[in-house]
Amino acid sequence: MKTVEFPSGRRVPALGQGTWNLAQVGAGRAEAIASLRLGLDLGMTAIDTAEMYGEGAVESIVGEAIRGRREEVFLVSKCYPQNASRRRMEEACARSLERLRTDRLDLYLLHWPGSVPIDETLETFLRLREQGKILAFGISNFDARGAGRVWSRPGGSALATDQVLYNLSERGIEWDLLPWCREHGVPLMAYTPLGQGAFLKTPALQRVARRHAATGAQIALAWLLSRDGVMAIPKAGRTAHLRENRHAADLTLTAADLAELDAAFPPPSGPSPLAML
Ligand code: NAP
Repeated sequence: MKTVEFPSGRRVPALGQGTWNLAQVGAGRAEAIASLRLGLDLGMTAIDTAEMYGEGAVESIVGEAIRGRREEVFLVSKCYPQNASRRRMEEACARSLERLRTDRLDLYLLHWPGSVPIDETLETFLRLREQGKILAFGISNFDARGAGRVWSRPGGSALATDQVLYNLSERGIEWDLLPWCREHGVPLMAYTPLGQGAFLKTPALQRVARRHAATGAQIALAWLLSRDGVMAIPKAGRTAHLRENRHAADLTLTAADLAELDAAFPPPSGPSPLAML
């Protein structure tokens, strides 16, 4: 599978797994765990979660899913902005590690910009990294200007990613943030890569999909994977969706496919506020 290189030199498969809104009880929970494990079997080893998801319940599900397989996983979690202070972030990180049943995160993110001074957050990220509790850190939902500001602060140039909303129907970051990330060697993690299903039936997407005997979801993911320095983290609580998504990494879109998708989902022609969920 295509990989994305992080600043540490570590290469991570460009198609990972999201976990927001995973079912937390009953058969849905069992299926979610099966889906995460199947994802690992199929090489989708980056798993994205957050303390926010189910107020910790989703991290516990991930912890169960990766039990005995921690070494295979590129494990990402995020802390609430209100927990991004010196004391609260160390505690939040400790809680996440416990729920995830691990001693370290591969990547720890500030979930969105908040009111704790960024210098304090960066200093705490650096301390957690020194302690080996996190191997790298980054930001989420920061626009190009915000990412640039973080980068310019002490420790900021160690940023390992900006995780933002990016999919065929939300291309605003191509104007400024994506070029900024490429220029600074920062891989971009595309969240909500399927638009939570919103645009998958669009006629142009369906036409391209038919040419590849694929589905709209597969084409939407293949399109993201065709972008340099971008990885995608679709969430699939069902194993059938997981399998379908995995095949997206085996598709190669042609110039004609890309042109048709550009016509239906135009790239930005100027700056726009960062899209967020
Ligand atoms: P998404 O991945 O775009 O869409 C997930 C939805 O699409 C689920 O309902 C899923 O159904 C369905 N789906 C999955 N594969 C499908 C397929 N092949 N065909 C049709 N439907 C399919 O949305 P998301 O969960 O918002 O985003 C992905 C991940 O990004 C999140 O889970 C989270 O880890 C991360 N995220 C981060 C932020 C942030 O602020 N940093 C914000 C939003 C999301 P089933 O689950 O039933 O299979």
